[in-house]
Parts: sequence; C-alpha cells; structure tokens
Amino acid sequence: MPWKAVSPIEIYKLLPRTNCKKCGEENCMAFAVRLVNMETKLEKCTPLLEESKYNQNYEKLREILNPPVKEIEIRSDKRVVKIGGEYVMHRHELTYINPTPIAIDVDDTMSKEELIRRIDIAENFKYDYIGRSLTLDLIAVRSVSNDPEKFRKTVGFVASNTSFPLVLCSLNPRIIEAGLSAIPDGRPLVYALTKDNWQRIIELAKKYGVPVTIFSPGDLDTLVSLAKTALDNGVNDIALDPGTFVGRKGLGYTLNAFTMLRWKACNDDYKLAGFPLVGTPITAWKTVEGDSQTKMWWETVTAAMLIIRYADLLIMHSIEGWSLLPLVMLRFNIYTDPRKPVSVEPGLRIIGNPGELSPVMITGNFALTYYIVSGDIEAGKIDCYLLVVDTEGIAVECAVPGRKLLPENVAELLKSSGVEEKVKHRILIIPGKAARLAGDIEDATGWKVLVGPLDSKDIPKFIGEKWTPQIIEELSRS
Ligand code: SF4
Repeated sequence: MPWKAVSPIEIYKLLPRTNCKKCGEENCMAFAVRLVNMETKLEKCTPLLEESKYNQNYEKLREILNPPVKEIEIRSDKRVVKIGGEYVMHRHELTYINPTPIAIDVDDTMSKEELIRRIDIAENFKYDYIGRSLTLDLIAVRSVSNDPEKFRKTVGFVASNTSFPLVLCSLNPRIIEAGLSAIPDGRPLVYALTKDNWQRIIELAKKYGVPVTIFSPGDLDTLVSLAKTALDNGVNDIALDPGTFVGRKGLGYTLNAFTMLRWKACNDDYKLAGFPLVGTPITAWKTVEGDSQTKMWWETVTAAMLIIRYADLLIMHSIEGWSLLPLVMLRFNIYTDPRKPVSVEPGLRIIGNPGELSPVMITGNFALTYYIVSGDIEAGKIDCYLLVVDTEGIAVECAVPGRKLLPENVAELLKSSGVEEKVKHRILIIPGKAARLAGDIEDATGWKVLVGPLDSKDIPKFIGEKWTPQIIEELSRS
C-alpha cells in the first residue's frame, strides 16, 4: 500500500489531550496538525515520553508516523547529518524530507597537505542562493593502502581537521575497525558490508554502535537478503547500495535499481527496501575511459540523476565548482517543500545609503523575486528603501491576479516599517507587473504611485530617467 497521509484526528486521539502546551503549541490539536505536516517531532510532546500511562499510545503514534524509509544519523562531535526518513516516491505527494548529503572522498595514500586541501575545499564550499546557503556535508575516507594502521592515522587526522561527519570506506573489516577506533566519539557511516564480510562488519556495527551500508552491486536479491541478516542480528541502522554503474548502459540499470527499491519501500510496504540509498558516482573515475574532464562529467551527470531518483547520500571525488554547483542547486530545488513557496520575511530593506529624497519601492516576498529585485538595485548602485510586501511567497505576476498583493497590506507596511519618517516625499514605485493596482494603492496609502519597469533589470535605467528632482516635485504637487 502506498504511504497515506494520516489525519490529524487520528493522531489527536492518541495524544494526552491535556492541552498543557509543553510542546510549544496552543493545544493538542494544533500539535497533531503540525505532526501530520511533518513540521514538528513527536518527542516534543514530553508527557508522552515521561508518563508511563501513555507508553502504548506513544508506540502506536511512532508506528503511524514512521516513514517508509528509515531515517538514520551520521555524526561527528560537531555536526549531525540525517539520511533517509522519506515518505513518498514523488515530491508532490508530500515533500522530500532530508536533502541528499554529498560526501567528498579522501584516501589514506594522500599527503597531509592534500588531505587538508580537499577538506578545506569541501568545508568552505558555499553558494548563497535565494537566502539559503548551499554546502557540502561529509568526508568519505577511503582505504587505498589496505593497511589498518595507515587508515587509522588518516581517519584520526581527517576527524581532527574537519567538522563534517565521516564515511569510512573499505571492504576489509580490519581496516574498518582501525578507522572506528580512531574516532570513538563519532558515529560514522561504515561502507560497506558485503556477502563476504557480513559477519565481522555486523559485529563491528554492534560494538561501535554505528550505521552500516550494505553493498551488493547488480544483485538486489542479495542486497535485501543481507539487509534481513543485519536486522536479524540486531543491526537496525542500515543503508543500501545496489551499485552505481556509470556510462550509457550502466546508468539505466542504476536508476532502475534505485527506483525499484524506493518503490517497494513506499508503495509496497516492503520493509527490507525501507532504508536510505547510497549512490557512488565516484565510480566514474574507475570505470569511464577518457581524460579527467570526461570522468568528472559522467560523475556529475550520474550524481544529478541520483539526486532526482532516490539517492539519500552520494560519494563524490570531484571538487570543481562546475561539477558541485549544479548538484547543490538541483538538490535545493528537489528538496524544497512544494507545499510552501520559498519566501523571505516581509518588511523594510535599506539598500545602500538612502536619504530623505531616495526612492521607495515595493516588491513581493517570493524569495526569487526578492533576491533578483534587490540584486538588480544593488548592481545599479541605487540607494533606496525597498518594502517587501507579504504576498504569501507568491511572485508579483501571480500575486496581483491572485489577490495576494493587497493595497491595504502596502498601506499597513508603509506605516509599520517607519519609512514615512525616513523620506520627505510621498511617492511609491510599484512593479510594472502590478500596474493595474496603481489607483487602488494610491487610494489605500495616500501616496502617489509611479509604475516601475516590467523587468527589474531595467530599474537602474528607470531610476536614472524618472527619479529626477523635477519629476519628484511635479508628482508631489499633483
Ligand atoms: S505537550 Fe502533548 S499533551 Fe501537551 S499540548 Fe502538546 S500535544 Fe498536548
């Protein structure tokens, strides 16, 4: 059965229903609504955890709210990365929950300088996009030397030079144990358990309390059989890697395998597929023929496809911006909650160093609109006051016909923002796409309206031509 949204009433009936507000909500019903919208955690209702009379209800609620894909945590002493925890195959059915973390690899044959260089690039990679910081997430330490002591030292060195959680990569249990012993306080992800090493890796997972990735390339039957073995032996935090095959033929298999596993978890309630999926586009560096640009291209394309098709963690080798930037932007877009437009806080923004005769402009609070408009104003070196009106995160061209850009909201913002005290004039520049509201805004605010350009890139030209002392005076007198 596909995962079905639970009704708030169903949840409410199992809550204590005392309206004690310990969860931060006004009452139990409000908490139930936020729970079904995945906006809060069950554990915030502390009476459920603390009072034994609610034990049964707590267990029932956990069962109802559990995602079909288990969520697991990978930790360093400074950061936590969550993978999995997904409910649906298709984003529009609810939302995707945990954006696919990207791990950058290092290995135990690299010099300390090279390790530091790659760690620094991974840690400092940051792109600010419509108010969000897009970053990388993990370091994957690979054993290439197959020498436990070398691996232990490398893991210790990497852990002491990064805040990122680690993935420890080797198929040799002796190597994995050496790595685990180097970071007793962390909770790295072990990569990987296979049909050849499962007994020893299971022992290590239990001894160190760490999650493990099960790796069975090209063989889904063995993959789920190993998952069952791990569960039967008390290892519950597992991830699955069905193999990442790169290139024209390989990609088809890879996407099918990832899709089948996610379909079985979300639509067939098949527990053995209900774990985070690990993709390794890094395999392009071994399997693709050609120069490093070709390998990197295939790695990037594979990673992009796996972000769209169900990978919950990716291990990559490329650290070039042209490879990573499209991936973090794609990930941002795929994991944006489709139920909520990406918005910024309404209110007054002061751009540059405006004075009492500087322009006052308005825009909507759809994040993309705001950042484009403010970027164009800054690029044009215009000192001004920008009023961001609450349009419920809707772009201006839709907010006008949808009645989300309301003259009364503009009037209210003019007052509450204090901009009336900051300027001498009473002229408001509205977006060209809101031209039809000009009269209504004048009536609601008492300010003269100057209709701005249709495209914000033309604002500098518009200000240069229209914001002159003569025009300001004329409008003020009219
Ligand atoms: S903490 Fe629990 S019992 Fe108290 S209001 Fe919230 S949901 Fe209700």
